[in-house]
Amino acid sequence: MRCIFCLESDRPARSVEHIIPESLGNTEHVLPRGVVCDLCNNYLARKVEKPLLDSIHFMNLRGRNVVPNKRGMVPPQYGFCPGAGTPVGIQFSSTEGLSIGAWDEADDEPFVKYILGSSKGCVLVPLEARIDERVLARFLGKIGYEILAQRLIAANLDVDALSEQPELALLRRFVRQGDVPDRWPVHRRRIYREGDSFQDDGQSYEVLHEYTLLCTDQIEIYAIVCLFGEEFVINLGGPSIEGYERWIANNQGRSPLY
Ligand SMILES: [Zn+2]
Repeated sequence: MRCIFCLESDRPARSVEHIIPESLGNTEHVLPRGVVCDLCNNYLARKVEKPLLDSIHFMNLRGRNVVPNKRGMVPPQYGFCPGAGTPVGIQFSSTEGLSIGAWDEADDEPFVKYILGSSKGCVLVPLEARIDERVLARFLGKIGYEILAQRLIAANLDVDALSEQPELALLRRFVRQGDVPDRWPVHRRRIYREGDSFQDDGQSYEVLHEYTLLCTDQIEIYAIVCLFGEEFVINLGGPSIEGYERWIANNQGRSPLY
């Protein structure tokens, strides 16, 4: 098979590709070996997924929902201790419980001094933080492109069809290189609360992530990705989101996921 990203056919491709990163709790949604080459797999993990996972917004989201990465580590939540004047990290571990320390080693001393000298204090931890739009758009573009591949595979069709669609060339370039276009807008809204549980057959469960594709009557294809109750939408055919805003307005504000 030919790699769906670099379109090369002679590169080693021994790894499965996770459509949603493992560090967001995904173990089941993968593309089989041979679809994404190891070079692209590695690049996407380092340059497309990692910048998003390491953003304060996603680090704190993973930390407070106790979602371990693939090495079993839950990331620290980033916060600020006004009394000590230092950024702090709050870490959860299943063996040691909660611990708190200065974010930077250089701040250890003033932070410890403050803790030892105070009977009470407070730490502020952001629930929302700005996410770089380009980082978010490349991350969603990667997921959307891979959902297309997953749909082709599920229908027993050739994933090579992706490389033959001129409409997808810009998205592939944006995900792989991120240089053009200047801006690729993403639509964001909350569709349920983080941590909400759902019922099925008397069982209660939480949804960490889910996704689908939407094809509008204008023949635009959108990837709809919900992470911890927040819906993120990207147009796979080009950098515009108006068609999705129109779709929401014409569908009483519902989500294509439901
Ligand atoms: Zn490749």
